[in-house]
Amino acid sequence: MESLKAGTVFGEKYVITELIGSGGMGHVYHARHLRIPEFEVAIKALDPAFTTTVESKDRFRNEVLAGYRANHPNVIQMYEYFDLGMQQAFAMEYVNAGTLHDVMDEGPLPLPIALSFIRQIALGLGALHRAGTYHRDLKPANVLVTEEGAVKLTDFGVARVRGGARFDEEGLLAGTPKYVPPEYVETGDSDHRGDIYALGVLAYEMVSGISPFRSDTSSSLLKERLEIRGHDLCARFTEAPDKVGRLVERCMATKVINRFPHAVDVAEAVLGIERAYGWALPETSVTQSTVTRVIWSDFLREVQMEQDSEKQGNQP
Ligand code: ADP
Ligand code: MG
Repeated sequence: MESLKAGTVFGEKYVITELIGSGGMGHVYHARHLRIPEFEVAIKALDPAFTTTVESKDRFRNEVLAGYRANHPNVIQMYEYFDLGMQQAFAMEYVNAGTLHDVMDEGPLPLPIALSFIRQIALGLGALHRAGTYHRDLKPANVLVTEEGAVKLTDFGVARVRGGARFDEEGLLAGTPKYVPPEYVETGDSDHRGDIYALGVLAYEMVSGISPFRSDTSSSLLKERLEIRGHDLCARFTEAPDKVGRLVERCMATKVINRFPHAVDVAEAVLGIERAYGWALPETSVTQSTVTRVIWSDFLREVQMEQDSEKQGNQP
């Protein structure tokens, strides 16, 4: 599918500056308001090929609604919805530092950052769940981070439409099965605790820099998932404190009843650990403490330098 060129005026109000992401259903652009160029937005546009199907249009609308209803600092903020005949799109808050996928590229996150991110993701999930949405496609590429170290969940409501987690005719999972909960593998369904499982996998990766699963093909990954029952994750953490290992293990429990009942319970548990270390702000659990912020900005600078030098290295 073709993307919009830089300079295109969208919805009579936003000037497209660049393409920042492409997926199965469309493109995401960085854009600026025509009258107030300092006002940056991200525009997600549905591929017109999907606009003709009522189902994908509905899913797209639901994505806007989900973000709007959650109304939380750890969930991407929706600005407006465009239904321009063949073009469905929405404008949302623009997040400047990239995705968790980008920042996790260089290995494990410093523990204070990992904990803060786990807590923030849990709070964002809690808000989505309260608003009646299950994310169902929580993975590093769908978690945005700001330069200030705030986390914003994005890309919700379409998980079942795209290849995120879907069974094909042979009953195999299409797309990246790494974050899919065992009950989904068994029954094809999951509730809000499916997101808590995915958060557990993500937390494991953030803290240790490695995946909790050893296989890499979808079918063996799924088999492995069903086989890991009561498996001691803490034993595989080399640097991480036991408390963190136990928390991850509880998120990733095979049986849903053994998981944290709600995402906010995960956030509470993380906050307890952060406070024990003196890393969390007591009065707010949304952003980061001064100590954590300094660690984050140093870390981010290194990641960006690394990425810049890789980019330069790739140039002919
Ligand atoms: P898809 O359904 O194609 O996965 P996403 O909503 O996940 O679409 O967006 C694709 C990519 O675009 C993300 O992984 C991220 O890199 C970028 N992106 C999405 N939303 C934003 C945003 N609000 N600010 C900055 N980048 C974004
Ligand atoms: Mg995505």
